[in-house]
Amino acid sequence: MSELTAKTIAELRQGLASRALSARELATAYNLAVEAGRPLNAYTVATPDLALAAADAADQARASGDAPGALSGIPLGIKDLFATEGIETTAGSAILKGFKPQYESTVSGKLKAAGAGMLGKLNMDEFAMGSSNETSAFGPVISPWKRNDGGNAALTPGGSSGGSAAAVAAGLAAGATGTDTGGSIRQPAAFTGICGIKPTYGRCSRWGVVAFASSLDQAGPMAKTVRDCAILLEVMSGYDKKDSTSLDLPVPKWEEGLSSNLRGKRVGIPKEYRIDGVPAEIDVLWDKGVEWLRDAGAEPVEISLPHTAHALPTYYIIAPAEASSNLARYDGIRYGLRETGEGGLDGLYAATRAAGFGAEVKRRIMIGTYVLSAGFYDAYFTKAQKVRTLIKRDFTQAFERCDFILTPTAPSAAFGLQEKMSDPLAMYLNDVFAVPASLAGLPAMSVPGGLDAQGLPLGLHLIGRELDEQGVLNAALAIEERAGFTAKAERWW
Ligand code: GLN
Repeated sequence: MSELTAKTIAELRQGLASRALSARELATAYNLAVEAGRPLNAYTVATPDLALAAADAADQARASGDAPGALSGIPLGIKDLFATEGIETTAGSAILKGFKPQYESTVSGKLKAAGAGMLGKLNMDEFAMGSSNETSAFGPVISPWKRNDGGNAALTPGGSSGGSAAAVAAGLAAGATGTDTGGSIRQPAAFTGICGIKPTYGRCSRWGVVAFASSLDQAGPMAKTVRDCAILLEVMSGYDKKDSTSLDLPVPKWEEGLSSNLRGKRVGIPKEYRIDGVPAEIDVLWDKGVEWLRDAGAEPVEISLPHTAHALPTYYIIAPAEASSNLARYDGIRYGLRETGEGGLDGLYAATRAAGFGAEVKRRIMIGTYVLSAGFYDAYFTKAQKVRTLIKRDFTQAFERCDFILTPTAPSAAFGLQEKMSDPLAMYLNDVFAVPASLAGLPAMSVPGGLDAQGLPLGLHLIGRELDEQGVLNAALAIEERAGFTAKAERWW
């Protein structure tokens, strides 16, 4: 990692403001890193010219004394789920290959308007369905991390925002956008030793974000530090009349509000999250996390989230149901791939969808269609909606006793490519700690806590009250300051 690409966004902002550094110099360093990082397969498309154009605009604005945007000259990667004007946007799917939107998603547009430069589009699981980035039509992303066992096994960076996580961890972007439907920001952040926050549902506009499960999908930032996440989230958030679920609330000044003094706060430790089969190291790290928060002034309290065991089955009904409906639009007529097939229009639909969707997406569409079918709707979909309400109520009751909740982010460190692809249920289990907060629409964040015995990063997970991103960021900051996590993936690419 060149010196520049190792810096945080806060440091770069300082360097650019003091003119110690030009935005062009920075964009050039990142463009080179993206090029050299090809073996990681983190990007589906590189846009070095866009990064340079934004950099030149940033340098010119500074030279002429204009007030710089909040991200003036900062090079970012954009997950390929965000529509980017004129730049191929595929959601990691063959069915959208070649699709160049005529519009920009609200979130990526806000980053652009704040002066950020786009380095390219980041690889991801197809339609954000997956936990390992292996369902991508562009092939898996390879984690920059290796086990310290002397072997050379290729590991997953997690998913679905695997490209975003690998890019930030390997210095191929100063920060990145991710999206999280059931853990897709937090689990990859944990697997790669970076930070990622999913805000309260509705904070970031979903307009122009390819829909997976609309009642769960949220955008959020992935970056090296808690502060960088606060900086990015402030720009990405805000009301958008083009998204009917967008929250019409002012965006708090999260960066200004950062404080790791947790005196007077109570941290809830949910007893139902102690589950069998989780490596002892993860429990040990969890206990350390409690101690770090206590050291920062917080008082630990045991809490109960009684419906936790039902969260994963509930998610894997609701998310596929919404996906099957959202993905009906890929019909070979309106976007991307078209296979004519035989038998007129129906044949065209069938041939296009058969050729364009990968196996996991097809599985989700079939599950979703099944649980929404007339004979099974009440038994599955209606029931899942009721359980979702109970899960949300668990959190409401827990937050009468605590201010935020601490859990591990994922039940394991990064696993090897191919290890779980033949067993969808083992893959789905990755989301066990992440999914409840998604179903409840709550802000949640992963922050690096340490390394396991194999030298791989492990994350700690903070869940906050609705709209209390500040509480989540502050608790994460307290952990960040105490964990002293400075490990970096050794460069092999
Ligand atoms: N891994 C989960 C899934 O496959 C979550 C994905 C996500 O958050 N987009 O659905």
